Amino acid sequence: MIIFKNVSKIYNDDFHAVDTIDLHIKEGEFIALIGPSGSGKSTTMKMINRLIEATSGTILIHGQDIGDQDPVLLRRNIGYVIQHIGLLPHMTIGKNIALVPKLKKWDKARCDKRVDELLEMVGLPAKEYKNRFPAELSGGQQQRVGVIRALAGDPPIVLMDEPFSALDPISREQLQDELLNLQTKIRKTIVFVTHDIDEAIKLADRIGIMQDGKLIQFDTPEQILRHPVNEFVRTFFGADRMNQVESLPTIEEVMIRPISSFPKRGLAESLIKMRKYKIDSLLVVDRSETFLGVAGVGEIQKNFSNENMVLEDVMKKEVPTVRLSQQLDDAINLISENQVAFLPVLDESHKLKGLITRASLVDVMANQLRSNNNEAAPVGGEGL
Ligand code: ADP
Repeated sequence: MIIFKNVSKIYNDDFHAVDTIDLHIKEGEFIALIGPSGSGKSTTMKMINRLIEATSGTILIHGQDIGDQDPVLLRRNIGYVIQHIGLLPHMTIGKNIALVPKLKKWDKARCDKRVDELLEMVGLPAKEYKNRFPAELSGGQQQRVGVIRALAGDPPIVLMDEPFSALDPISREQLQDELLNLQTKIRKTIVFVTHDIDEAIKLADRIGIMQDGKLIQFDTPEQILRHPVNEFVRTFFGADRMNQVESLPTIEEVMIRPISSFPKRGLAESLIKMRKYKIDSLLVVDRSETFLGVAGVGEIQKNFSNENMVLEDVMKKEVPTVRLSQQLDDAINLISENQVAFLPVLDESHKLKGLITRASLVDVMANQLRSNNNEAAPVGGEGL
C-alpha cells in the first residue's frame, strides 16, 4: 500500500533528518511512528503527502511513485490530522467537515449525508453540532471534528501527527477509544505519529521506532515488547512494561490436568465419567497420549441410542489447540477468537499435556492483578 524504498531527507547538505528508510505499510494497517523528539517521525510522515519532499529514494502508494503525482491531488486522497486541528473559525462545523468532499465536487446531498454520518460516528449529533462554530466546541470535540474532517473525502490513507497530545488525559483516552472503534468500521491505512508509548501500543497494529532519522525496529507492539532489537528500544519502551510482559505465567503454569478417554470407549461409560468429574467434554487420546479430538456431552447424548457408537464416532477432530511452547497470550487470543471454553495443550509430537480453560485463566489473571496492585500500593496502605 505505502512503500518507502531507501528514503532519506537531508537538510543543509549533510544532516540526515530521515536516513535511508525502508518501510512497507499494508492496506488497512494502523501504524504508529514513535521515537524521541527530533528523531524524524514527522518528516517521515509528511513525505507521504509531499508536505516535505524526500531528498532521495522512492515512496510508492498503490504501486505508483508519488514523486510523479500532482501534490494537490495526492493530498486530496490522504486525510491529515494535526495537533492543533486548525478548523476554520468562521465556518460552521458542517462546512469545515465538507471541505474536501466539496473540492472533490460531491453534490450537496452526498456532502450533507457524509457530514451527518461522520458526526454521528463520533457521538456529536448532527442536528446539534453541524451549525455550530468551532469556538463553541470543547477541545476534545474540536479534535473529534478534526479527525472526521480528515475522513470526509473517504481517503484510503490518513496521516495523524500527534493528534491527541494537546488534550487532557481523559479526553485523550476517549478519543483513542473512538478512533479504535472507528477504525474497525472504516479500515483506513493510518500513519500516526506520537511520542506516547502507551498510545502507540494501544492503537497500532505495528509500531515503527525511530532514532536519529533511522527506523530502528518496525514490528507489532507484542514483538517489540518481547524482543526489543537493542538497548535503546528496551529502555525507550521502559523496563516496567517489559517486566510486566515477562512476568506473565507460562502455559505450563496455567494448564490443568485434562480428563481424557480412549477412542473405543462406549458412550454410556463416557457419560458416567463426565458426570463424575462434572465436565461437559472429554479429550480423546490414543494409548500413547496422542490427541485425537474432543467429545462433547451434546454429541454423546444425541447419539446415545445407537449402542454401536463409541467416542471416536462422535468426537470433533478439528478443534483449536495450543502448543506447550507457545505463550500464554497466544492461548488467550485463541480462546477469544474461537469462542471456546477450553484449549487442549499439546507438545511438539501432538501428545496431550494439559488443558487451559477460561476459568483457569481468570484465576491466573486475578492473581496477577492482585500482585501488581500490591506492588503499587503505598507502604502502610494495607488494611485501611
Ligand atoms: P520528530 O517528528 O521525530 O520530532 P522531525 O521529523 O520533526 O522529528 O525532525 C527531524 C529532524 O530534522 C530534527 O532534528 C529537526 O530539527 C530537523 N529538521 C526538521 N525540519 C528541518 C528544516 N526545515 N531544516 C533543518 N532541519 C530540520
